Amino acid sequence: MTRYDDFHARSISDPEGFWADEAQLIDWHTPPTQILDASNPPFANWFLGGTTNLCHNAVDRHLAVRAEQPALIFVSTETGVEKTFTFGQLHIEVQRTAASLMALGVGKGDRVLIYMPMIPEAAFAMLACARIGAIHCVVFGGFASGSLASRIEDAEPKVVVSADAGSRGGKIVPYKPLLDEAIRLSNYKPAAVLLTDRGLAPMELVAGRDHLDRDLAAVHGDVVVPCTWLVSTDISYTIYTSGTTGKPKGVQRDTGGYAVALAASMKHIFDGRAGETYFSTSDIGWVVGHSYIVYGPLIAGMATILYEGLPTQGIDRQPDAGIWWRLVEKYRVTVMFSAPTAVRVLKKYDPALLKKYDLSSLRALFLAGEPLDEPTARWISDGLGVPIIDNYWQTESGWPIITIANGVEAKPSKFGSPGVPMYGYKVKILHEATGEELTGPNEKGVVVIEGPTPPGFMQTIWKDDARFVQTYWKSLPGKLVYSTFDWGVRDAEGYFYILGRTDDVINVAGHRLGTREIEESISGHANVAEVAVVGVADALKGQVAMAFVVPKAGDAVTDSDVALKLEGEIMKRVADELGALARPARVRFVTGLPKTRSGKLLRRAIQAVCEGRDPGDLTTIDDPVTLQKIGQLVVP
Ligand code: ATP
Ligand code: MG
Repeated sequence: MTRYDDFHARSISDPEGFWADEAQLIDWHTPPTQILDASNPPFANWFLGGTTNLCHNAVDRHLAVRAEQPALIFVSTETGVEKTFTFGQLHIEVQRTAASLMALGVGKGDRVLIYMPMIPEAAFAMLACARIGAIHCVVFGGFASGSLASRIEDAEPKVVVSADAGSRGGKIVPYKPLLDEAIRLSNYKPAAVLLTDRGLAPMELVAGRDHLDRDLAAVHGDVVVPCTWLVSTDISYTIYTSGTTGKPKGVQRDTGGYAVALAASMKHIFDGRAGETYFSTSDIGWVVGHSYIVYGPLIAGMATILYEGLPTQGIDRQPDAGIWWRLVEKYRVTVMFSAPTAVRVLKKYDPALLKKYDLSSLRALFLAGEPLDEPTARWISDGLGVPIIDNYWQTESGWPIITIANGVEAKPSKFGSPGVPMYGYKVKILHEATGEELTGPNEKGVVVIEGPTPPGFMQTIWKDDARFVQTYWKSLPGKLVYSTFDWGVRDAEGYFYILGRTDDVINVAGHRLGTREIEESISGHANVAEVAVVGVADALKGQVAMAFVVPKAGDAVTDSDVALKLEGEIMKRVADELGALARPARVRFVTGLPKTRSGKLLRRAIQAVCEGRDPGDLTTIDDPVTLQKIGQLVVP
């Protein structure tokens, strides 16, 4: 066995011993007396008897050695602001926000909903909640009133933290009117709203309810707010899933288990070291933002970059598709985390941009959130010359489920595979109809996790244990296992391949095909930038595949001859690689694809539109026009 295999094997055979060791990576106010309580499956409780605090571990703990070192580096290419907060300054800012929240009546266990653009105040608010034991619920700032209202109703926050506006691609997006409308729509009304005024949009304050943070800080700002010591299983936050497949679920996480899981992942997976800089291009509204913009890097004593803006605009607000690499050079970033969708955006630009900067500090680029197709992986890998590490996980897990743990052993990566199960995860592949375990290489089934789930994994669905058990743990016959709702296979060396979501399978004349495989084949065509494949009802074959292709920049396929030729080439390619059954019935060219705000393809909505059905809840869609255009294309 290799070193990593041993490491993983111990985490499974002796979870208590394994995680007792990992628990040493964080500060405990009182050390745990019992490592794991799994007596009531599928619930797993970690580090019982221990008390700790996330904010203490992210901020206070570092003051003794690195008070003067950078902690939070804010870069906004939207407003042209670039500002660094040291750990010492972060400590002051967080206490200031904590004091303001307390002045508004927030205490332990109260919810605080954070609806914020990517500004430092958002991170201050999260850390302030953690500090005083309030439960934060960050809602992605790109959501409109409807999505926000349903989350306010679900979370029942005492206070909402927000700002006058965000900005996207140079366009000001006023948040306050959206928030006011959401509160109007919601049956539950928060008692107070705490606002940051960025001076981007006018705000009307509701008397008695709305407060400017600078006004409260002027009164309460200099108060010392000690960390509230929380029991390990106390709730740290709730966060909603992206809603790619349906109604978002309020994922609830603990305190001690999460802190340990993040500290361990920073060491074993990301290999990030204190004093270095971490750059995740995600958003605090997503789980990656929680774990690897705010808590993970800070717990590890690293500086973290909080980036507001597109990947294609410079700090001078001029077009610059090299901005991220400029930041890597400037802040000597060692670990970077992004998503395939962002890399695909950059891929449309000159690869020479990657060579313009000194990227020698960078050790690895981690990509997650959706399948990493081989052409994209190769392009960025050739350009950067550092390992590109695909990592597979979910909002539910809080940290990677399948990847390569370079900090333990540098196993080689394989294109198309995120890697192997992480320590603590018992990942299996089950037959979706019988629930039988599939152990052979390349046997396709549902990727599941056997309990007890490791530290950091979701505790339950907020306020709904029954839905948690029913939704996640009862979907396969005869077994209490956690379903990821993703298809996968494992090769002979134990590497996993994720083949798409369980509801993204199409059935052509009795043959089951994964849309992901067809997409992978199409995206290998040199003129294809992006592609979505869906199954559409067909009287004869049951379903047929439809492909929507975004051609590479410069390949405008307005000319019908060019389009026909490309369509023919794509069809031939799929037929050659996967067989005639997989060949799309139609290839349509579009300028963009409907995605969630986190960059995930909404195949469900495309499919509905193709079949002339109502696409349902579209509140999570980023650019509804893309879906309308598809609708126009498929009109018979
Ligand atoms: P919902 O559960 O509400 O439909 P969602 O599943 O899109 O939303 P997330 O938790 O943000 O919400 O996404 C997790 C999913 O993203 C995984 O289950 C998987 O389908 C996909 N995913 C994440 N990382 C990878 C990866 N590295 N490779 C392939 N798929 C990935
Ligand atoms: Mg999901």
